[in-house]
Amino acid sequence: MIIAIDGPAASGKGTLARRIAAHFGYQCLDTGLLYRAVARDLRAAEQPLDNVEAAEWAARSLDPATLDDIGLRHPGVGEAASVVAKIPQVRAALLAFQRDFAAQEPGAVLDGRDIGTVVCPNADVKLFINADVEVRARRRFEELSGRGEPVTYDRVLETIKARDARDSGRADAPMSIAADALLLDTTNLDIEAAFDAAVGLIKRKIGQQD
Ligand code: C5P
Repeated sequence: MIIAIDGPAASGKGTLARRIAAHFGYQCLDTGLLYRAVARDLRAAEQPLDNVEAAEWAARSLDPATLDDIGLRHPGVGEAASVVAKIPQVRAALLAFQRDFAAQEPGAVLDGRDIGTVVCPNADVKLFINADVEVRARRRFEELSGRGEPVTYDRVLETIKARDARDSGRADAPMSIAADALLLDTTNLDIEAAFDAAVGLIKRKIGQQD
């Protein structure tokens, strides 16, 4: 069983993916961490983010054991990740790891931008999670300021809009809604309501009764 969850930054897809995986007893992979880790490793090697050869090398030598590095959650790393994510060689280098993860039994949940379209086009269930950009910015602002990060709402809104544009506008595997994806708009939903709605969509799709 493969559940693919895509959507823009701060749509709630990461939290939903983890909760859905726990609910069904599947493993979960936040694929954004792969791109974040490539950006981290490039910076550590003192290479510019647009150095294609160095970025491909960083992607090929990525150590999955380092994905729980708390530093990957830093907002600046998310920005940097969306720059390296434009490089086709980086995307290609990360593909096999994601597909191997997806193939495990009894099932896997992967969240990202291109899971339903490129990584797992044959996923059993595809969800595309979205929310109004102002609501996403408000959530991210509250999360970051709650962690003590020195941010303003306006700056968060600006960076989310820039990241949406970069992720939707790139040539290779842009963020887009798979033709067979089920849409979930979390603008007016809290996490509990969003989780209930997502589980309902998944059960309906796989024909499972409550
Ligand atoms: O989801 P997260 O914010 O951690 O992703 C960081 C960046 O990694 C995204 O803005 C996007 O550019 C890139 N990404 C991607 N494809 C994925 C997951 C993330 O291009 N499947």
